[in-house]
Amino acid sequence: MSQYGDYITQLQNGSKKLYSLEREVSSHDAVEIRRTYIEQETGCSLSHVGAYSIPVDEVTQKNCENMIGTIQVPLGVAGPLLIQGEYAKGSFWLPLATTEGALVASVNRGCGAITKAGGAEVRIFSDVMTRAPVFSTRSIAHAKETCDWIITHENEITAIAEETTRFGKLREINTVTAGTSVYVRFSFFTGDAMGMNMVTIASEKVCALISEQTGAKLVSLSGNVCTDKKPSAITSIMGRGKTVSAGVHLLHEQIQSIFKTDTASLLDVHIRKNLAGSARAHSLGFNAHAANIIAAMFIALGQDPAHVVEGSLCITTIDSTEDGVYAAVTLPALPVGTIGGGTRVMTQHDCLSLLGVSGTGEIPGEHAKKLAEIIAAGVLAGELSLLGAQAAQHLARAHQTLGR
Ligand code: NAP
Repeated sequence: MSQYGDYITQLQNGSKKLYSLEREVSSHDAVEIRRTYIEQETGCSLSHVGAYSIPVDEVTQKNCENMIGTIQVPLGVAGPLLIQGEYAKGSFWLPLATTEGALVASVNRGCGAITKAGGAEVRIFSDVMTRAPVFSTRSIAHAKETCDWIITHENEITAIAEETTRFGKLREINTVTAGTSVYVRFSFFTGDAMGMNMVTIASEKVCALISEQTGAKLVSLSGNVCTDKKPSAITSIMGRGKTVSAGVHLLHEQIQSIFKTDTASLLDVHIRKNLAGSARAHSLGFNAHAANIIAAMFIALGQDPAHVVEGSLCITTIDSTEDGVYAAVTLPALPVGTIGGGTRVMTQHDCLSLLGVSGTGEIPGEHAKKLAEIIAAGVLAGELSLLGAQAAQHLARAHQTLGR
């Protein structure tokens, strides 16, 4: 690093900016110089942060500014998990990046239960990414005129939006108003991309047309009716990303042998906790810990971790059957992609390859749908295992043994 002494001096005296280093040295060297500078400024050693294997050229351009290294999160696998989806068919090992002791073990047990029961059936009910710009209008009448113009010009809007992307397809436009504010919620199919950048770029182009034709003024490309990275009823009801359900039929004997509890106790925990408890708390999620599995899989698989918020809206349901139960999870909003965003980081790319979903599918969208189905089945495994542990009063014991 001594050959970069000049850069460190320039950073220290303020004549060079941290973000400008890539213009003069390689991405790798820029990362090294920045980290050395931060170490010297703070007196803190960052040797672990500085030890990594991923190529950083693309990452420093597209994923992370002012990069100084990486964070390593332990990666475990759970499985094999038998899945009978429309896109995910067969046995899968789930990658889970986590520091929560007992989580992988718990999901692993759930995978075993589902596989013994013949596998999880999984179906996708809706597949759209949303963006909802907000416009200001002069009056209520102008707001109504603006909404009317949008709804009567859907074909023109769609054509303009789709000029910006080879893969994005505008599927639906909904308008919502609050006084003089008009929110236009665009829903796009985004192929194998999670699609947030894609729909934002397309929405910007359409907003220019709407403003020009209606006189409504664009206030913000995102007016929070999208709703991105915040829990919301509109997302829970209308969906965002993939709306996906996974279910499995478990026999009384399987509940007893795998979870060491009986069906009545499992149902009692589910009803009092997932349903009544969540309702009493006015929670938007009616599940045991869906976010746990989604977070661990999102981190491993290069998904945007902030979208765990959407994932947490999961509702778990358990129906009694003659010989056992039919347990299911329904995830109204699972924003996932296999191309773009964090999927280009090589460690995350490895994990996508483990599931056979890296990059673009043969038919655009196939890989992203397969990924959504696998994550939903993983959530079902996590839900069953935790409910089973709580029904058998094993929760504290498992965490004490594995997490402390
Ligand atoms: P992206 O990498 O910006 O766009 C995906 C790219 O892949 C597009 O250029 C697309 O082509 C191309 N592509 C190639 N094959 C494809 C296929 N089979 N299916 C779909 N696209 C294909 O990714 P994004 O998913 O739109 O955005 C994800 C990023 O947005 C993440 O990093 C996330 O953190 C970030 N994000 C952004 C916002 C925001 O407001 N902008 C909000 C939240 C998160 P085309 O160019 O022809 O479409």
